[in-house]
Amino acid sequence: MALNIKRPNGTEDVLPKDVYKWHTVEKIARETAESFGFGELRFPTFENTELFLRSVGETTDVVQKEMYTVKAKETEFTLRPEGTACAIRAMLQNGLLNEALPQRIYYIISCFRHERPQAGRLREFHQFGVEMAGSAAPTADAEVILLAKTLLERLGLKNIKLLINSIGCPTCRAKYHEALKAYFEPHIDELCDTCKERLVKNPMRLLDCKSPICKEIGKDAPVITDYLCEDCSDHFAKLQKYLTGFGIEYTVDPRIVRGLDYYTKTVFEFVTTEIGAQGTVCGGGRYDGLIQQLSGQPTPALGFGMGIERLLLVMDKQGCDYLTPKKCDIYFATMGDAALEKAMQLTKDLRELGYCAEYDLMGRGIKPQMKYANKINAAFTVVIGDNELESGRVKLKEMSKGEETELALDDKFIGNFDSIYIDKMFEQFDEASTVKAFGQIAGQQ
Ligand code: ATP
Ligand code: MG
Repeated sequence: MALNIKRPNGTEDVLPKDVYKWHTVEKIARETAESFGFGELRFPTFENTELFLRSVGETTDVVQKEMYTVKAKETEFTLRPEGTACAIRAMLQNGLLNEALPQRIYYIISCFRHERPQAGRLREFHQFGVEMAGSAAPTADAEVILLAKTLLERLGLKNIKLLINSIGCPTCRAKYHEALKAYFEPHIDELCDTCKERLVKNPMRLLDCKSPICKEIGKDAPVITDYLCEDCSDHFAKLQKYLTGFGIEYTVDPRIVRGLDYYTKTVFEFVTTEIGAQGTVCGGGRYDGLIQQLSGQPTPALGFGMGIERLLLVMDKQGCDYLTPKKCDIYFATMGDAALEKAMQLTKDLRELGYCAEYDLMGRGIKPQMKYANKINAAFTVVIGDNELESGRVKLKEMSKGEETELALDDKFIGNFDSIYIDKMFEQFDEASTVKAFGQIAGQQ
């Protein structure tokens, strides 16, 4: 009977034939973060629900409708809907903020949000995120944005726009909230139910509503940049100067308020119009009050989260290059037990050198073995039967060209194969891509 249990809505399987795309993003993300002095932090998939209530904010979509909260025995947990709160919790609990500042960490995690699944919007999705704690200076904002930008560039992405805004500090935001209330109150009956509540509790959230009616009403709402205090305004001006210094193009978009409550001052998004409505590939900002809110010493901090599924959608669309997936370098087709055992030995030794080598595990005849070698796209094949064992010579066949080279089946076989393989690599690539190919081999071992 066929298994009729399917994966839950809004989740995805990644098959071995596609996983190289994920490996590409993960590898380049790690290398980029590490080149900026960030180290990887790993934390649990679930946390005490209260962590998210106290950080993400009770009036946000995430807390109001999207959290996966599970009760196990008598205790309640929530599957992480994002990484910042978890990362800060882990930094506090492990005393990282008592060490050299700024503390810089990155993570590659799955996140869980109960949303309506669609292209680029999943219930389990993945984020590459970074957090930097300890610096209040606008250089830190510029550095974090440069990291995101550098990664997008190294992935080969084009036409991704950077939008920035400052949403001020609690001081300047109080005045702005009043202005927003005054603007939206005459329209209160037309707003969606969530926004009616937001108007009372956190009017800035109204600007982040996805309902077309609320969006339309909010079109001419006052903008935060007109309400910034001197400190916030100065911080924002310096950030823009540094971004220009780094040659990073940006647009100031006063409508960006971000979906989570803990942001202060700088917020930013990297957006594209190429993958439909879910075009924000990266969102981040400063959250100077969060660490104190979570019972730490007051410590300014900032970070971003990048949606890996959305990145891959854009990379596929733009035809970006991925690191080449590892495929079978050499397949031994064998006849008889003695040949099989010889192939098993050679395979083991070749793998020690980093080659992907295979032999028959199905007890098939030579013809189906060669068919299999073709199917898995083996670069080279060797047939070993009684004749080969007797003569001590085999033919190494390069499958793409059909060319054969005769080799001795002695203890020089591995070394000889190694030199032929490397020569072929040089033939295949021009100089620049050869360097890349070797980088990949080294990276895969
Ligand atoms: P959106 O406005 O698209 O709902 P958000 O403001 O909720 O995004 P953040 O909480 O800032 O998103 O998360 C950072 C990034 O994670 C987003 O920019 C996006 O790339 C990705 N992301 C967020 N939610 C999802 C999801 N449900 N599925 C896939 N990726 C997501
Ligand atoms: Mg969202």
